Amino acid sequence: MTRFVDVRNMVRWATTTGPETIIGGMIGYLRDDFRRWESFDKTARVANHTPLGVIELMPTSDHETYAFKYVNGHPSNPARGFQTVTAFGVLADVHNGYPTLLAEMTLLTALRTAATSAMVAAELARPDSTTMAMIGAGSQAEFQALGFRTALGIHRLRVWDTDPEAMEKFRRNLAPLGFEITIATSAADAVAGADIITTCTADKALATVLICDLVVPGVHINAIGGDCPGKTELEAAILERASVFVEYPPQTRVEGEIQQMAPDFPVTELWKVIVGTEPGRTSRDQITLFDSVGFAIEDFSALRYLRDSVARTEFFEEIDLVAAPENPKDLFGMIGALSPVGS
Ligand code: NAD
Repeated sequence: MTRFVDVRNMVRWATTTGPETIIGGMIGYLRDDFRRWESFDKTARVANHTPLGVIELMPTSDHETYAFKYVNGHPSNPARGFQTVTAFGVLADVHNGYPTLLAEMTLLTALRTAATSAMVAAELARPDSTTMAMIGAGSQAEFQALGFRTALGIHRLRVWDTDPEAMEKFRRNLAPLGFEITIATSAADAVAGADIITTCTADKALATVLICDLVVPGVHINAIGGDCPGKTELEAAILERASVFVEYPPQTRVEGEIQQMAPDFPVTELWKVIVGTEPGRTSRDQITLFDSVGFAIEDFSALRYLRDSVARTEFFEEIDLVAAPENPKDLFGMIGALSPVGS
């Protein structure tokens, strides 16, 4: 049997456990998996592009457990009543290839993206950071804010979105949780005085939601919305001034902000910072930039955390996903006896 976490159980688990507890726990799992980065099978995700968006498959394995995520990215979806990003994912046993967990991952992706951003910022942002600017107040935004409070204690947010209703929703969701929120009048207004800038917009374009003149020394930029060929958020001049940190270079060079740069543009792989073989922030004035696109190992960590966390709860059900005849060679026997004679 395969364990199944549907939307109802994902919501029950997330609300019972609490998003900050989950993000904190996931950071631990992410750190463990980034530390053993070299032991994973890694491949850039497989992407099917259309004019409206992309559908991607993200596989990885540590030779004991295999994981994949199915995820879409359709920036025009909200205007048509759909979400920009939805996902589901699977864990399987490598020894026999049987799936062990099937899970909703729209919510889980938002939690894992927040946990990854927060883990990275804990390495790269100035430790005395108190204020984060957020450009983009859509589905990911609240999760990002909770991640940064969990890992860095950030409680002051300055938010800007071209959609006033999205900013109001952001305030409505987060103000009761104790955040101090300023609704900005522009991207420039949002980033004024911020120690960290998160860009989480969605537009299928080489957009410039953050220009170089707005980036001051010492800031950490957490850029999560530029994650597809032809879809970026930052003015290229920012990349020239910043130290750029990435997940998996073969994927990020195609999908991330650095698609705007030469193929040999220097970047640091994050796992090396986590392991300690490469430095993170080296000076107070350094501009650090996480060029996030989302990598399969992060989904592996999130699914592994979910599997372990729900194991002691009732937030899953067992489903009969794999046809399993008593005699493993007699698959036809499962239907043969039932087939009408002569039909
Ligand atoms: P969403 O559509 O729910 O929200 C995006 C928001 O950006 C909207 O409110 C929109 O009004 C706003 N926006 C668009 N252009 C803007 C601009 N120029 N200035 C200010 N605001 C602007 O999308 P979401 O689910 O929150 O995802 C945000 C982005 O993050 C998407 O591009 C998505 O692909 C990406 N993403 C990345 C990762 C990762 O691991 N790096 C994971 C999940 C999502």
